[in-house]
Amino acid sequence: MHKNIKNIEKLVFGRGSFNGIDGIIENKRKENNHFFLFIVDNYFKGKELAGKIPSRPEDVIRFIDVDPYEPTTEQIDSLRDEILNSKGLPSGVVGIGGGSIMDIAKAVSLMFTNEGSSTLYQGLNLIKKPGIYHLGVPTISGTGAEVSTTAVLTGPVKKLGLKCEWTVFDQVILDPELIATVPTDKWFYTGMDTYIHCIESETGTLNNAFSHAYAEQSLKLCREIFLGDDAGQTPDNDDKLMVASLMGGLSLTYSEVGVCHALSYGLSKILGAKHCLANCIAFQHLEDFYGEGLNEFRQMIKKHNITLPKNLSKDWTEEQITAMAEVAYNLPHMWHHAMGENWKDKISVENIKELYKRM
Ligand code: NAD
Ligand code: ZN
Repeated sequence: MHKNIKNIEKLVFGRGSFNGIDGIIENKRKENNHFFLFIVDNYFKGKELAGKIPSRPEDVIRFIDVDPYEPTTEQIDSLRDEILNSKGLPSGVVGIGGGSIMDIAKAVSLMFTNEGSSTLYQGLNLIKKPGIYHLGVPTISGTGAEVSTTAVLTGPVKKLGLKCEWTVFDQVILDPELIATVPTDKWFYTGMDTYIHCIESETGTLNNAFSHAYAEQSLKLCREIFLGDDAGQTPDNDDKLMVASLMGGLSLTYSEVGVCHALSYGLSKILGAKHCLANCIAFQHLEDFYGEGLNEFRQMIKKHNITLPKNLSKDWTEEQITAMAEVAYNLPHMWHHAMGENWKDKISVENIKELYKRM
């Protein structure tokens, strides 16, 4: 089975490229009810970037605090209902922020045209109609959400994406100036999502020349950014990180993530842990699976004085550990990629519980 991938329709890259956004969306303003919905990370409220958003009186700007929890189905449904009831169908949606805002923008653009709750559409190709025009402006790099075919949502039952070709952004603006203000810890965790995407994409049965080419380049950039002589948050490295994130995302789209992401989903679903930090918490204990990658990861942690939480499992109940292991086990595509066709002979819910107990 060969995946037939939808890529971003249009992409602009470069310092200051955000300043061209007004011209980019100008033509789209004729569509639907002639207004745009801007969904912006709350961090930017009152900041310089907020002043550069080319909003007109008819537009809606919504600042969203992404820190309390990852995007939820309920959040998407109520935002969609509120906008449709008050102003009708927007011409388009612009998301300005990190992976959380990227996912909110992608999901809401689909839910404007697909009736009912977004819980109905969590999964592969369940969305019935194309969404409205949507544009992504990442302000922190690493998740690859700017390029991926999924909008990850936590619902009452599942943490699962709205996954289809219409999820992909019509336009992305990659302006490395926008990630300069990211605090070091978040820069590291989110950057490591890219690194882990590439290690997992490369280490598994679905890896191929296409996914490998992107992972190889993305890993080269990660090594320069996090381990090179000029490692750290510099303008040059911000340029590189934006590209690494995109390429890491493309690599896993044509391959798959693996053990670390399966465990990370369990941590997020049961304990509410944020995706990128959850990956780092899990990855530090996966020497059985990703030995070489883990050595390098440890050097990066040391170089940037990052302290990852440890000994967490002593405060977890047996029920929580079982629940997390079940969430992880129920991601067969990831285990299949990481361990091969007969993965069920190699790993069980009990083995996965042991992995959680290391954390
Ligand atoms: P995020 O959007 O959760 O934001 C992390 C933090 O960084 C927030 O506190 C935010 O306010 C802050 N921030 C963002 N930009 C900033 C800036 N320029 N300056 C200062 N602070 C800034 O970050 P993330 O790690 O990019 O995204 C995690 C989310 O992405 C999770 O919800 C996860 O499920 C999702 N995700 C999606 C995909 C996908 O393919 N769709 C892939 C991986 C992860
Ligand atoms: Zn990830």
